[in-house]
Amino acid sequence: MKIGFNKPYITGKETKYIKNVVKNDKISGNGIYTKKCHEKFRNLLNNKQNLLTTSCTDALEMTAILANIQPGDEVVMPTYTFVSTANAFILRGAKVVFVDSREDHPGMNEDKIEEVINEKTKAIVPVHYAGVACDMDKILALAKKHHLLVIEDAAQGIDNFYKGKPLGSIGDMGCFSFHETKNIQCGEGGLIAINNSNLSNRAEIIWEKGTNRSAFWRGEVDKYNWVDLGSSFLPSEITAACLYAQLEEIENIQNKRKVIWNQYNDELSSLKNIGPGLPIVPKYSTNNAHMFYLVCRTPKERAQLIEHLKLNNINSVFHYICLHDSPYYNNKHDGREMLNAKRYEENLVRLPLWVNMSEKQVMFVIQKVLEFYK
Ligand SMILES: *Cc1c(COP(=O)(O)O)cnc(C)c1O
Repeated sequence: MKIGFNKPYITGKETKYIKNVVKNDKISGNGIYTKKCHEKFRNLLNNKQNLLTTSCTDALEMTAILANIQPGDEVVMPTYTFVSTANAFILRGAKVVFVDSREDHPGMNEDKIEEVINEKTKAIVPVHYAGVACDMDKILALAKKHHLLVIEDAAQGIDNFYKGKPLGSIGDMGCFSFHETKNIQCGEGGLIAINNSNLSNRAEIIWEKGTNRSAFWRGEVDKYNWVDLGSSFLPSEITAACLYAQLEEIENIQNKRKVIWNQYNDELSSLKNIGPGLPIVPKYSTNNAHMFYLVCRTPKERAQLIEHLKLNNINSVFHYICLHDSPYYNNKHDGREMLNAKRYEENLVRLPLWVNMSEKQVMFVIQKVLEFYK
């Protein structure tokens, strides 16, 4: 029995909806399934506007254009994140200023943000790591005080909540990923959520390559024209059809993931005092069971644990290499140490978690982890 780290879940309706798209001769974007997805997201996020994108990377790039980021501007974000969070702003000429992780969680330390804010700072980009909410009240208060935009990288945060508010709907904008490693997936896909009504007209234009084509289709203008900066951010109807099948089953998908996450958490809680750290979910956040990880005490312990699991045909994986330390950015970073993020870089390991994992498979992983620590 081989247990992979991830196995994308397929509901069974994807192929039926994709066939409909092909049969209907409307495969390009912004058709029926895109609109159906937008409707679903409006119900999930209860916000101003949602636009499907070809990836979360693209959604982040859209936010950088919408935020009017110019060369020389500064954008604050965690160092322990995926490269796309940073690239989106670097592409517009911004300087990215990194913040360390929290002691108790890989997410950005909200108390370390204010010290790097200056007159060049334009935006804060919190990343909801493992789908767990950042302390958004603290971040929103800083943004208000210093007149900054808040852009949530909620790539992992679908259907999760901060004090009852859906992640991605709290800042001025939010971005989601539907890459096949995420809870809801269509292979490659994303969403930009617009929560600040000042940004919504422009969002639709940037999404449509800088044209007012959407207004044209609605009959609001008599021809469509190049009116702003933009790119090809919208996915084809095939992607939207696949995503819609997943959205219809979101409750079932999330429930199944939560059962597995809780099984890990219950059975491994005995390790707390003798071995690795278990994931922390602060009171202000719910848990969408995106990821179950352990934080080993040393890099050697992690390497041995991964090896032990591998010998038992279980694939466990580490995660981000800190961006401030990367070959691309280390000579641009200001030299501040990021000790907590480094600790997660060196010691965090993610266990297999996917919808169709059987209880037996989860138990097998648990047994092998416990065996390692015996
Ligand atoms: C997955 C992920 C992304 C990128 O998502 P894509 O859809 O693959 O572009 C960005 N940020 C974070 C935090 C992610 O986990």
